[in-house]
Amino acid sequence: MDSQWNGQFSRYDRVTRTGEHNRTVIQAGGGEIGGDEFIVMAGPCAVESERQLLETAEAVAAAGARILRGGAYKPRSSPYSFQGLAEDGLKILEKARAATGLAIVTEVMAPEDVALVAEYADIMQVGMRSMENYSLLEALGPCQRPVLLKRGAGARLEDLLQSAQIIAENGNPNIILCERGIRTFETTTRNTLDISAVPILKAVSHLPVIVDPSHACGVRSLVPALARAATAIGADGLLVEVHPCPDEALSDGMQSLSFDQFRAMMSDLQPYLAIRESRRAVVAELLVAQGEG
Ligand code: PEP
Ligand code: MN
Repeated sequence: MDSQWNGQFSRYDRVTRTGEHNRTVIQAGGGEIGGDEFIVMAGPCAVESERQLLETAEAVAAAGARILRGGAYKPRSSPYSFQGLAEDGLKILEKARAATGLAIVTEVMAPEDVALVAEYADIMQVGMRSMENYSLLEALGPCQRPVLLKRGAGARLEDLLQSAQIIAENGNPNIILCERGIRTFETTTRNTLDISAVPILKAVSHLPVIVDPSHACGVRSLVPALARAATAIGADGLLVEVHPCPDEALSDGMQSLSFDQFRAMMSDLQPYLAIRESRRAVVAELLVAQGEG
C-alpha cells in the first residue's frame, strides 16, 4: 500500500493491499475480473422486454463485451418512473445468458431480495444509492456471488472501502469496486468522473476496480472519451449502458450508446488497451522495487 494512505485506510484490512495479498481475481461466468484481461460489462440500464435484452446481449457480445448488465430492480428517483420488471426481468436475463453465454450483472436493492437475485445473477450489483445500506451489505456476506459495489455519489473513497470491508467481514471477499462519478458543483455533466479514484483504489486495495462512464457523465457523446481515459489509467474494466433504441429507453436513454456507437467505442479502445498493458508492467516493476512483488 502506498505509505501516503497507509494510516488512513489500514483499518479496512480485509480490502486493503498487503505484500502477500495484492490482487484479488474474481471468477464470474467463466471469465476473470481483476486478472490480466480487460472486462467490459454492457447492456441496458433496465431490462424492458425479452426482445430488447436479447438483441442487446447479442450486439454487445459480438463487439467484445464479456458480461451483460441490465436492471430488473431499478432504484428510481421518481415514483412515476419505470420501476423495473423484478423477477420477470431476472428470467429474461437468464434467457439472455443461455442464448449468448454472457455472465449477468444485475442490481439488488433489498436484503430480502438477495436470495432470489442470486439465483439468476453471476454478479450482484449494489447501486450508488445503496452503498450505505448496511443491512444489504451484511446480507451479501453469506451470498456466494461476487458483488459489484458502486461508489455513492456523495461517498469518499474511504466510505467505499468501508462498505467493501463490511461485505468482506460478513464472509464475502469477492468484491469489485466501481467508480461511477460523484456529485460536485459541476452540473454540465450528470456527475463528475473521479478518475484519480482508479489509481488510488488500485494502490490501496487488492480488489478489482472498474469504471462506469455512463452514469459518470449522463450523456452518450462523452461516454467513449471517459471509457478511453479509464482504460489508459489502468481500470480492470468498464460498465457501459447500451440500448437498441436509446431515445426510446425507459431509463437512462440519454447516456445509453446505440449498438453502432458501442462497437465504435470498443474498437477505439484498442490503443488504450495497449497503454494499459505497458502501464501495468511499470506498476509491477514498482511493486518489485518496493519489495511487494
Ligand atoms: C445503474 O447501473 O443503472 C444504476 C442505477 O447505477 P447507479 O447506482 O450508479 O446510479
Ligand atoms: Mn442506469
